[in-house]
Amino acid sequence: MVTEYEKAVKQGPVEGHILCPECGSDKRLIADFVAKLKEEGVISSELFPQASGVWEIPFMDLAKMGLIELPQAVRSFPKVRILFDICAECKRLLITRVEFGEGSIVQQSVGSQQKSL
Ligand SMILES: [Zn+2]
Repeated sequence: MVTEYEKAVKQGPVEGHILCPECGSDKRLIADFVAKLKEEGVISSELFPQASGVWEIPFMDLAKMGLIELPQAVRSFPKVRILFDICAECKRLLITRVEFGEGSIVQQSVGSQQKSL
């Protein structure tokens, strides 16, 4: 059986606005700022491929994850990434893309620290 979560991941990202729905501008505050940082060599393109703001929302249910007590277990959980920017003209917040994916953590052993990947 395919869950709603698996369906969302399979369907791929939801594309948001390319042009500002308010004023039609394609100028964006974050994208322009990131482009300048890359131009000036402050950050590298490889490490910051997306020229936008990123919200990551992990849906990590620690109570559920703790049910299986296996050392070195890799636990995965649904994760939503929201790429956003701000219109340079009218300052409207734009959602440019929504990605459904999976995050994971390695649980070293019971009682030790959990490490983010
Ligand atoms: Zn605008």
